Amino acid sequence: MMNSSTPHTKGSEKSTIKDTITTAQTKSNMTSVSKLSSQEHPLIIAGPCSAETEEQVMAIAHQLKTTGTSIYRAGIWKPRTRPGMFEGVGAEGLKWLQRVKEETGLRVATEVANKDHVKACLKHGIDVLWIGARTTANPFAVQEIADELQGVDVPVLVKNPVNPDVNLWLGAIERLEKAGIKQVGAIHRGISPLGKSVYRNNPEWNMPMTLKELRPDLLLINDPSHIAGNRQLLAGIAETALALGMDGLMIETHTNPDAAWSDAAQQITPQALTVLLAKMKSATGTGTVMDTADLSNMRSSIDYIDEQLIDLLSYRMQVAAEIGQYKKQHGMAVVQEERWAELLTKNVSQAAGRNLDGEFVTQLFNSIHRESVNRQNLV
Ligand code: PEP
Ligand code: MN
Repeated sequence: MMNSSTPHTKGSEKSTIKDTITTAQTKSNMTSVSKLSSQEHPLIIAGPCSAETEEQVMAIAHQLKTTGTSIYRAGIWKPRTRPGMFEGVGAEGLKWLQRVKEETGLRVATEVANKDHVKACLKHGIDVLWIGARTTANPFAVQEIADELQGVDVPVLVKNPVNPDVNLWLGAIERLEKAGIKQVGAIHRGISPLGKSVYRNNPEWNMPMTLKELRPDLLLINDPSHIAGNRQLLAGIAETALALGMDGLMIETHTNPDAAWSDAAQQITPQALTVLLAKMKSATGTGTVMDTADLSNMRSSIDYIDEQLIDLLSYRMQVAAEIGQYKKQHGMAVVQEERWAELLTKNVSQAAGRNLDGEFVTQLFNSIHRESVNRQNLV
């Protein structure tokens, strides 16, 4: 077990490579390095969105011990979108995380957004820091964090920014690397959707895949919780991420998810986490999830795509029913032949540009249209 109370200090030895995120090293204690080695594939980071009370933090940590979790996450300072929501317990919570280390042996991680957060975390021996999506989007804030971390060997994971800009993500990573941090990793958490979406944050899979292409050396973790925003989509996203070769998962976990003080809809119990991870293993059919992209992996991707098609179809029918309401209120006919002909032509031509057969697309959309009309007639 690692030294749980030694705070980080500046000037420690460098260490390297993607799959050897190490825990805190200090000048005085450079030999006891606990590694997150390649055996930890996938690397599982789990814990509540927010640390709420000492009891809640400890109860979740004890239940996570047997789930395959390596790193315990809990937000102490919460970057809430609107004011007036729970903004975290603050530095007080760092003591609870220290207790988690001592009692469970799990490594602990929290989000930092400024130099004061960094100072407090280093003082309390937090093993892994992460930079949140809103902070990654701000180079001034990232630079401030990087400056504070100059010469400290603590692993830092960088979430993608809230906008689809791989360079901004990469830039944040580079700022930390320039400050001498050797153990930098990335977390893919999706981007804010423009309009309505089935996701809280659209996955934009091309973003992590581009980062992976540019920097294959980096540890790349997927955060399905913040992409999904709900429990239903979680497993499909996690499965796809692993099928795409990502190195691990960060999943928000709570003993009483519905009562969580933040992100209640997306958190799952430690028991549900165990089930989800078992599902990941059986999906690959190998027992080790991170083997090569084999047939099982590709099937997982197909399953996931089908789930998305179903979600989208369901959403489309919902919108159709709303339009049905409008037509009824305004005395309009359900079927507008002209509008349908126009739509079909547009869809078939767009589909042709994506290598899809015209006959297939016509049949598919005729069938979707029939169902839409049925829905509108039911209104
Ligand atoms: C979090 O991990 O709780 C969080 C706030 O995430 P993000 O920065 O991805 O929104
Ligand atoms: Mn959260």
